[in-house]
Amino acid sequence: MKIGEDITDENIQRKTGSIFNIQFFSVHDGPGIRTTVFLKGCPLRCLWCHNPEGIKKQKHLAFAERKCINCGVCAQVCPQVHSFDGGKHVVNRAACAMRGACVDACAARALEIVGREASVGEITSEVMREKRFYEGSAGGVTVSGGEPSMQPEFLFALVKNIKKENIHVALESSGFCDYSVLEAVLPYVDLFLYDCKETDPELHRKFTGVDNKLILENLRNLYKAGARIRLRCPLVRGLNDRDDHFRGIAALSKEMDGLEGVEILPYHKLAASKADRMGLERQDEYEQIPREESDRWTDKVREYGGRVIVS
Ligand code: SF4
Ligand code: SF4
Repeated sequence: MKIGEDITDENIQRKTGSIFNIQFFSVHDGPGIRTTVFLKGCPLRCLWCHNPEGIKKQKHLAFAERKCINCGVCAQVCPQVHSFDGGKHVVNRAACAMRGACVDACAARALEIVGREASVGEITSEVMREKRFYEGSAGGVTVSGGEPSMQPEFLFALVKNIKKENIHVALESSGFCDYSVLEAVLPYVDLFLYDCKETDPELHRKFTGVDNKLILENLRNLYKAGARIRLRCPLVRGLNDRDDHFRGIAALSKEMDGLEGVEILPYHKLAASKADRMGLERQDEYEQIPREESDRWTDKVREYGGRVIVS
């Protein structure tokens, strides 16, 4: 069945999906002032993942150890998940039924359920509250993740419904999905923020868990189909801060000369502490990249003939 075939004007508002955040006043996810809706689920495992709470499709119990005052109340309301081993708070997430009793009981706000089911109608009403800011700044709404294409029907309904309100819609994607998803949402997406994490296929696999063949194929197909695309290139020291990678980026920009341009996104350390808080696998930590360093790579892309966007 084609994506969106089941979605009608009558049922579109009721379509639900799994999200983990709605961020207002975002200025780094496309043009102008934006609201970014983050969908859960991602098939990649980037070593530097900046949104580790978006990887799992399911809800997740987050625990901020630095906020915990070891009062033990959570262990009273939910002893199967919370216990103390020699004074150390142990969280057994496998036993968690996501009822949130411990979250409500924790006065220190050290616990949180990350992720919720939300309907297209609900999200559209939330994002429409900021309409005047979009209009005043040539901004709009960005759908991000995780990888939004992991929930194709929900994504389709969401971008279609927001577009109906005459709002600029951007979609951030790794491009690692069946092309049919990108094709289905294309009429409702004004700008694709398309990741280009690594141009070497083997290194791409090493850094993200998948190679970039499908991603590049989808990029070329999307471009041929007339999409407006901005390439987003994370810069991580010791991984992709290499001349051949940035030559590769410039080559893509030259090959598809109608691309809006290339944007370089320097790694920031926030992700590692987020992963800790979520009780997710500890990520490798990389050095924070100073502005001058990312500017140097931006200049390189320009020098190699690529079109650059500086935000
Ligand atoms: S694509 Fe994004 S959400 Fe998925 S693992 Fe990579 S950085 Fe994280
Ligand atoms: S209720 Fe909150 S502060 Fe108290 S032990 Fe549990 S997580 Fe820590």
